[in-house]
Amino acid sequence: MALIVHKYGGTSMGSTERIRNVARRVAKWHKAGHQMVVVPSAMSGETNRLLALAKELQPAQLGKAYGRELDMLAATGEQASSALLAIALQAEGIDAVSYAGWQVPIKTNDAYTKARIESIDDVRVRADLAAGKVVIVTGFQGVDPDGNITTLGRGGSDTSAVAVAAAMKAAECLIYTDVDGVYTTDPRVVPEAKRLERVSFEEMLEMASMGSKVLQIRSVEFAGKYKVPLRVLSSFTPWDIDLNEEASSGTLITFEEDEDMERAVVSGIAFNRDEAKVSVLGVPDKPGIAYQILGAVAAANVEVDVIIQNLSKDGKTDFSFTVHRNDFQKTLDLLKGQVLPALGAADVVGDNRICKVSIVGIGMRSHVGVASRMFKCLSDEGINIQMISTSEIKTSVVIDEKYMELAVRALHREFDLDQTADTISK
Ligand code: ADP
Ligand code: ASP
Ligand code: MG
Repeated sequence: MALIVHKYGGTSMGSTERIRNVARRVAKWHKAGHQMVVVPSAMSGETNRLLALAKELQPAQLGKAYGRELDMLAATGEQASSALLAIALQAEGIDAVSYAGWQVPIKTNDAYTKARIESIDDVRVRADLAAGKVVIVTGFQGVDPDGNITTLGRGGSDTSAVAVAAAMKAAECLIYTDVDGVYTTDPRVVPEAKRLERVSFEEMLEMASMGSKVLQIRSVEFAGKYKVPLRVLSSFTPWDIDLNEEASSGTLITFEEDEDMERAVVSGIAFNRDEAKVSVLGVPDKPGIAYQILGAVAAANVEVDVIIQNLSKDGKTDFSFTVHRNDFQKTLDLLKGQVLPALGAADVVGDNRICKVSIVGIGMRSHVGVASRMFKCLSDEGINIQMISTSEIKTSVVIDEKYMELAVRALHREFDLDQTADTISK
């Protein structure tokens, strides 16, 4: 008997029929003798629907008071789906109880709409498990030190599940979703994409941080920090398939490295359409400019991703970086309003029709020339690269958004991912 955490995404919870299926699947695990904690997302489309209502009433992105209400609003999606799942389990004859984040409590900081989990008190949940109940904990939400409801950023139910699994030292955290595992790239964009039997934690971390939405980045960070055994699998298999077969399906995130392993150079391709590029033009090239620009941006709680500074000419330089699209206007306004006059820069311009495409693979460490192969492939397709950023196991380029699918498909072919997926992390 083990303590297992299941997480079900929005599509998996998308209708009462699907919720009933989830309940039956969870009941199967419970009846097999496991202690079950289940973390559901809101029913598909619900979070978008709620946030769109707020936008109708107030399109401008305002300050903290507005963020607080967005979280108050968005958190209702998970509260509803969790209660529905508890009801569905009760209908299956299982003793089940659901808790909102604040009831557990899952404590977070007060960064509304992107709060971070600080601690989880599992006493209540443990007592219920000991009494033989299935416990359902809302995904995506927590409570700040003042008792306000917070949410963890889009896709945050993954993080709730892994954090609960870490706090409770669960034997495994299973992320049930609408694809049957982690693929070499998004199978909805490249139908030839292959499922990975296993993927290393480091590769998963890069893929998630480069935009593969199959797992929220923070969930992977938690899994790494607390060594939570993590698996991504389908919620669309029949609920009554053999439990052991189900438990070994999908993709396992692994923490051990097999040094002798024959590796593919590139394991996967990620892309991200959620960024925008901001450029400060004609900045006097002197010490401290990066700090003056990026310090102001960071102070506004805006995360910066790819950064480039061009060679200076006549003592002036251009400085570009990318931010999340949601922060695009805010960043432009901030730079134009405060930073530009103080810096004596010529102008601030932006482009929110860009995307970032990344190749990821531990195999890149031991192979030279991988990045140049990527650049050649894109150049053969006539795709202009606007920015580049690299790390030991990934290379990312920023390109025009309209070439995204073309770039991903070409790179998938270039690195033989339609053929060699099975060798990647075995
Ligand atoms: P959930 O609602 O279950 O959390 P998400 O939509 O957040 O589901 O994540 C699953 C989706 O992630 C898939 O439907 C797929 O389109 C997308 N995806 C992106 N990259 C990958 C990848 N490398 N492997 C599998 N799925 C991916
Ligand atoms: N419901 C939230 C969202 O749509 C959280 C999640 O699904 O993980 O972003
Ligand atoms: Mg998700």
